[in-house]
Amino acid sequence: MIMEKERLLIVEYGKKMSTSGLSRGTAGNISIFDKDQGLMAISPSGVGYFETEPEDVVIMKLDGTIVDGKRKPSSEYGLHAGFYKAKAAEGCLSVVHTHSDYATTLACMGEPLQAVHYVIATAGTHEIPLCPYTTFGTPELAEMAVAACNDGQAVLLANHGLVAFGVTLAKAFNLAGNLESLAKTQWQCMCAGKMNVLTKEQIDAVKVRFQTYGQTKPAAGTTNSY
Ligand SMILES: [Zn+2]
Repeated sequence: MIMEKERLLIVEYGKKMSTSGLSRGTAGNISIFDKDQGLMAISPSGVGYFETEPEDVVIMKLDGTIVDGKRKPSSEYGLHAGFYKAKAAEGCLSVVHTHSDYATTLACMGEPLQAVHYVIATAGTHEIPLCPYTTFGTPELAEMAVAACNDGQAVLLANHGLVAFGVTLAKAFNLAGNLESLAKTQWQCMCAGKMNVLTKEQIDAVKVRFQTYGQTKPAAGTTNSY
């Protein structure tokens, strides 16, 4: 079975999509791109995440040709392929698309995701833009979503949902979760009628801070400054 590791990851993270609340039923889809082979592994269309087996995951080229798989691919395979074509060189090797509650609420309000909390820096930017509405599963949506995405790793799709990407499925999935939390916070701020939005400079400072956050190994001879 080709791309077995990627198929297993898609099955595993599909279940996480459901249990984390990022997705209900068969909404949303996930994929991983193998840049060397030029192939993506993508979740099948209309199969529940807990019913998906590794052999249900579809392996396809970015032009839409199915290389292996007995199922139909996700109806948004063109959206996933569009991001790999445009952004694989920038580290877009996995795409997570959700209809998660709060991100979708903002997308339905016509609002971009703003820097109401510094966690937006995990997307590498200070604002997650909003792609104008067009019909799901169309080449136009793929094209418009890629074009709307600025220097960050995510975009909201008007009246639809969220696309987040990363170098691994784990990173893309975590980013989708962070942005759903951020969307909830922004929505709450909007309901309360007050919102302090951080500046691009403040978010740039967070991005620098993130480079040494967590279990990173300090360079030899350096000491922690706090
Ligand atoms: Zn969708």
